[in-house]
Amino acid sequence: MDAMLARSAHAEGFIAAAGDNPDSTLVALDFDGTLSEMVEDPEQAFIHPEARRALAELIGRVGHVAIITGRPVDQVRRLGYLNDDLLQKLIVLGQYGAERLDSDGRRVPDAAPSVRRAIEELQPLADEYPGLFIEDKQHAVGVHTRRAPKGTLAKVESTVVAVAQRLGLEVEPGKEVLELRAHRVSKGEALRGLMRETAAEAVAMVGDDLGDISAFDVIKEHQASGKPGLVVVSGSEERPELTEMADMLCGGPAGVAVWMDSVGVNPA
Ligand SMILES: [Mg+2]
Repeated sequence: MDAMLARSAHAEGFIAAAGDNPDSTLVALDFDGTLSEMVEDPEQAFIHPEARRALAELIGRVGHVAIITGRPVDQVRRLGYLNDDLLQKLIVLGQYGAERLDSDGRRVPDAAPSVRRAIEELQPLADEYPGLFIEDKQHAVGVHTRRAPKGTLAKVESTVVAVAQRLGLEVEPGKEVLELRAHRVSKGEALRGLMRETAAEAVAMVGDDLGDISAFDVIKEHQASGKPGLVVVSGSEERPELTEMADMLCGGPAGVAVWMDSVGVNPA
């Protein structure tokens, strides 16, 4: 494959918009297979040198650059040689958005408001049923009854499930515990959050695997609303379902580097 191959008019539209208005441009990239070559040992999947160079230059040209990955952020920091200079402008969303690394350091973002609400609403159960306790797990809430008299869980179950349903939380039953979780994190939700945060007009997502599809879907919605959006797929001849979605195909991390070099370049 050539380094880059445009497959739709969105490819040109995005490059033009990003060149005209780089400050309002967001480029989000997957890590494995996109910035680093796939290797046998995932602990050795270091960033491609050209991708590292192009990434460092890109953050100097456009307003917002992010890595969205399934890996924990500390792994990506090591494998990507992400030093403090890069992290002045780069945002890393790890574990599909469950943790974040940026110029403020590493942290777990605030829990979903629905989880906070559920904790408030379930707290009275702890007063009503001795031994029952509510555990705040940030992205989930646990209703524990292992210290309560036998049969307590059955007594509170319908109340807990009703709260979960009303707040759109998923219920995960366990041994003497009901856990309520915010909807599963995904790259799509992570990208949506970044788009809200940055209010970027031109948005691109670069990925190579099935885990990236939810984020590609978010880009397609952005395009459908008439805004410049771009789906870039990195070297995925073996994944025809991804090729179908691509506005731009790149031949692996080296090709992604060539594409990054084209973003945010003033057309004049
Ligand atoms: Mg990947």
